[in-house]
Amino acid sequence: MTSPWEVVIGMEVHVQPRTRSKMFCGCAIGQLGDPPNSNVCEICLGMPGTLPVINKAAVEACLKTAVALNCEIPRHTKFDRKNYMYPDLPKGYQISQYDLPMSVNGVLELDGRRIRVRRVHLEEDTGKLIHAGDKLHKAWESFVDLNRAGVPLMEIVTEPDLRSADEARDYAVALRTLLRTIGASEADMEKGQLRAEPNISIRRAGSEELGVKTELKNINSFRALHRAILYEVARQAEVLESGGTVVQETRGWSDAEQRTFSQRSKEFAEDYRYFPEPDLPPLELDPGWIEDLRRALPELPGARRARLVSQHKLPEADAVLIAADRDLADLFEAAVAKGAEAKPAANWIIGEVAPSGKFPTPEHLADLVKLVTAGSITRDQAREVLIESVETGRSPSDIVAEHGFAQVSDEAALLAEVEAVMAANPRAVEDYRGGKKQALGALMADLKKRAPQANPKVASELLLRLLG
Ligand code: ADP
Ligand code: ZN
Ligand code: MG
Repeated sequence: MTSPWEVVIGMEVHVQPRTRSKMFCGCAIGQLGDPPNSNVCEICLGMPGTLPVINKAAVEACLKTAVALNCEIPRHTKFDRKNYMYPDLPKGYQISQYDLPMSVNGVLELDGRRIRVRRVHLEEDTGKLIHAGDKLHKAWESFVDLNRAGVPLMEIVTEPDLRSADEARDYAVALRTLLRTIGASEADMEKGQLRAEPNISIRRAGSEELGVKTELKNINSFRALHRAILYEVARQAEVLESGGTVVQETRGWSDAEQRTFSQRSKEFAEDYRYFPEPDLPPLELDPGWIEDLRRALPELPGARRARLVSQHKLPEADAVLIAADRDLADLFEAAVAKGAEAKPAANWIIGEVAPSGKFPTPEHLADLVKLVTAGSITRDQAREVLIESVETGRSPSDIVAEHGFAQVSDEAALLAEVEAVMAANPRAVEDYRGGKKQALGALMADLKKRAPQANPKVASELLLRLLG
């Protein structure tokens, strides 16, 4: 049954650009697990009388991202104050960008669909509240850690162009690949360097009007992003189908309970009283600088995927998987350059390297692929050789020579083994000759046990001939 509902999603993604220092002061970015309030200064603590200074590396990362997303970059941009009161925000306002963002009107291609990017702008992160409680004594304490306060963030906002949980997740993954490829961010979700907030609504299939949306927060993995959207879509459908209305609100995702819950509804609509940041100069961006950034961009994942198909003749599905990760794509192309055949190299990368995350050198992968395609070792052996090669750093050829388990493909050499198997299993031989073709399986299994180095293809042909 097709659903009567169409899903509509727009994504707001916060990404921490790769910088050494914070957005408006010289404090180090620090690491997860640093002692609380160890990476702070009078500027990011919001002391009166201090002045912020714009971090050029953050601006550059944002512009690079904007260029890679095909955004328009207006000549003039500025920072604004977004005012609200919360204990994690020492200044009482967040420096962000309101009406003149760094860039607008971009696009990310996703499997042939164009997801429009509304804007990419820069802002600063807030601190963290930590609540500690003692139920027994009804004693509650709250702490604030301002290590994250003032850490640069790029905010990347799409138009409501995504149409399913799958597509929203694929978008977030594609964005991460792009950011890593251009070196704008490490974009590690676990470290909070990439945070995705989907805005979700549903509408009757065929309707043009947008439904009321909810925005989801606290999502800390691609899996959670997918789950949270599926949950939220089902929840909204249930509300509407039972005659209710969806409330426009922010909802949190609970990973433990696998559900969303209401956090804050629009009734308490924020009035941020945005106004231009008086302590920072508006920026006039030099078109020459932007041109330089554009020229210096590496090949982007979409273009690389297309090239893996056209140049290396990979099937589209393989190219998608390999181009999704720059390390995999680099390994693939380097191994091919070292003489590996493209399709088998892709198979090994997709089947073994990607799932294990253990990377052989391109030379070693090429070596391995050649050993397999030449029929010198079996696939099972090759799998072990690959693992050992990654662990020891030795070449597959050396490992094969040492173990002496080069595959035997020579018929004359296999004859004795095959005859021994037939002699040891007279019953199976009789069955086969009597028409029970499945008896061949038992014979091959025994052969594999006695002669693991036997090339299975050559051995089974030989066996069939002798049985014939
Ligand atoms: P808000 O003012 O609540 O932040 P915006 O209009 O600025 O809303 O949009 C924020 C994000 O929500 C954007 O990614 C946008 O594409 C998306 N969005 C807006 N309206 C809807 C809707 N009805 N359904 C799904 N997503 C929406
Ligand atoms: Zn500081
Ligand atoms: Mg919003």
